Amino acid sequence: MIAYDFFTTQKLEEALDYLDRLEKVKVLAGGTDLLVDMHKKSPRLPPISYLLDISNLEVLKFIRPADHYVEIGSLITHSKLIKEPLLNHNFPLLVEAARTIGSTQIRNRGTIGGNLVNASPAADLLPPLIALKAEVVLTSKKSERVLPLEEFLAGPYKTKIEANELLTKIKIPLLGDHYYTDFQKIGRRKAMSIARLSIALVVKIDEKSIFQDVRVVPGSATPYPQSLSKVEKAIEGKSINKIDLEEIGRIISEEMISITGVRWSTPYKKPTIAILLKRSLEKVIKESKTNA
Ligand SMILES: Cc1cc2nc3c(=O)[nH]c(=O)nc-3n(C[C@H](O)[C@H](O)[C@H](O)COP(=O)(O)OP(=O)(O)OC[C@H]3O[C@@H](n4cnc5c(N)ncnc54)[C@H](O)[C@@H]3O)c2cc1C
Repeated sequence: MIAYDFFTTQKLEEALDYLDRLEKVKVLAGGTDLLVDMHKKSPRLPPISYLLDISNLEVLKFIRPADHYVEIGSLITHSKLIKEPLLNHNFPLLVEAARTIGSTQIRNRGTIGGNLVNASPAADLLPPLIALKAEVVLTSKKSERVLPLEEFLAGPYKTKIEANELLTKIKIPLLGDHYYTDFQKIGRRKAMSIARLSIALVVKIDEKSIFQDVRVVPGSATPYPQSLSKVEKAIEGKSINKIDLEEIGRIISEEMISITGVRWSTPYKKPTIAILLKRSLEKVIKESKTNA
């Protein structure tokens, strides 16, 4: 049994004040990761003296266009992501990833902010948001800072958030014309399934059918999601009509193993990551030919 004092608030300033004044405060959003960890007495949990429930902070529940970005408040649930036309239109891979999370109940409670701060290697929103070059806004009582999501991650289940900070907002830059995206996920079963492997792909295919600005980010493949620069470079500059997808598959498998080393899961993941990327590339190639 973990003993703690429980606070809840409807004001962001009050939440930031608690975080500023008190020590060993743990933030509670949807609770779908945290309460499981508390119940299991996970060794990952730091000592907790206070639980700060932020789920009533209405000010962190928004999805809105802003200049060249779409901004998402950290308390937006996966169910809200799925229903939002702005996201369906601009970032279908993010919506697809949200759709694969847990069950209806989990998607109704679990938030985008919780998914990012928990930073599981299998967190489904990390690969698409890294591939989209999303930024996170971290707010404390005295300051606000913005970090690229990829830099925010510091290891499996580790981020650079400070004890007095809340993740308040995620900013996703809009993609220009000629961009195509995809998200693929494989789990042990069709529903309520944590990713065994996933892949997020963002590419531009220019008027000459050449791949540009390639972003490949797998989930559950490396200790924590990160973009794979070797395979990105191998795809970049290739024509969609001449690209050798088998060769690209070999490159992504080798790049993954160069990061993880050979592990018990390698005989499964080595061919599977190649297949996932091939499927994603075939999908965007088909879409770009349809649009041509
Ligand atoms: C049955 C089940 C199935 C699941 N399936 C999936 C799945 O398929 N894919 C997947 O990716 N995840 C899955 N999850 C994990 C979980 O649902 C998600 O990661 C969810 O998005 C977590 O959000 P939350 O609001 O519940 O976070 P919480 O549990 O409230 O918090 C998680 C962590 O983030 C911190 N935190 C939360 N919000 C903030 C904030 N705004 N600022 C600072 N710190 C914050 C908390 O202190 C805690 O450390 C599953 C969980 C369960 C129980």
